[in-house]
Amino acid sequence: MKRADINALEKTLAHLPVDLKQHLANQLLGQINAQAHTLLETANSHRLCPHCGDERLVKWGRSGGLQRYRCQSLTCHKTFNAVTRTSLARLHYRNKWFDYLRCMRDSLTLRASAFRVGIDLKTAFRWRHRFLHASANANANALSGIIEVDETFFAESCKGKRNLTHRSPRKRGGQSNRKYKADKVPVLIARDRNGHISDLVDPALNKPTVHAFLTPIINRDSILCSDGHSWYKTFSSEHGIAHHRLVTLDNQRVIGKEYHIQNVNSYIGRLKGWMVRFHGVGTAYLPSYLAWRRLFESAQPSEEAWLRAAISANQQQMPT
Ligand SMILES: [Zn+2]
Repeated sequence: MKRADINALEKTLAHLPVDLKQHLANQLLGQINAQAHTLLETANSHRLCPHCGDERLVKWGRSGGLQRYRCQSLTCHKTFNAVTRTSLARLHYRNKWFDYLRCMRDSLTLRASAFRVGIDLKTAFRWRHRFLHASANANANALSGIIEVDETFFAESCKGKRNLTHRSPRKRGGQSNRKYKADKVPVLIARDRNGHISDLVDPALNKPTVHAFLTPIINRDSILCSDGHSWYKTFSSEHGIAHHRLVTLDNQRVIGKEYHIQNVNSYIGRLKGWMVRFHGVGTAYLPSYLAWRRLFESAQPSEEAWLRAAISANQQQMPT
């Protein structure tokens, strides 16, 4: 819609009596709600019982604007709707979800998002992590071709954690293999030349965890480019993968024209620059922020696509 048309519409609305304005506001709110409901109802084309996986379902009335179903399995017979056991289960104010997702597209802080959408900070916090939960779990992206891998570090933080008085953060992840400073959390990032990214947050990053992370995402035809760390060398030789190791003693980051880790390092630069606005992220929530940034690196999804992804990626229940 053109700006001039919107201005004309606003001008017309401004002259309406208050009761008509209220009526139209309610109408629009209903339409936004219905739009959210339609998206939720159609996100999964093949509906299964989220409790037992059975496909024998019957419609069982409506509740909270959503179609309710009842599982016909003799051992289950439970009812559910489109959001049951998804990361969006039991979230309210669906008419505000689109607005909120727009805040996330704009990378707004919690405070700014809460103010813009008209929700409290606690709700803004919960929504952020619920909307990112599915994407954070969908992190094991298969990579192909030339794959660049590198480590980066984030300051360890207990931000957002409850019961701080009972914590013992220095002990967490303090396995014997830990090589890093206690207040830094290592994050491993792998990126292929098509822009696919997979990351691993691991306070005790070591050879077994690096191997376990890389194994499902890298196939034998790939070419791995890394720094001089021996993890990558052993991984490549064990899996028969071509490996270019960039030893940085003489600041030589490029060997040949195409075997380098500049792309993954540029990504790390963008990630860190983007995260500055959040003034430190709780370590427990780091995977959500990495997932958020990954969404920006691929085609920027619309609010609708984001909402679909939030309930379709997996049927894992979130804690409240
Ligand atoms: Zn069932």
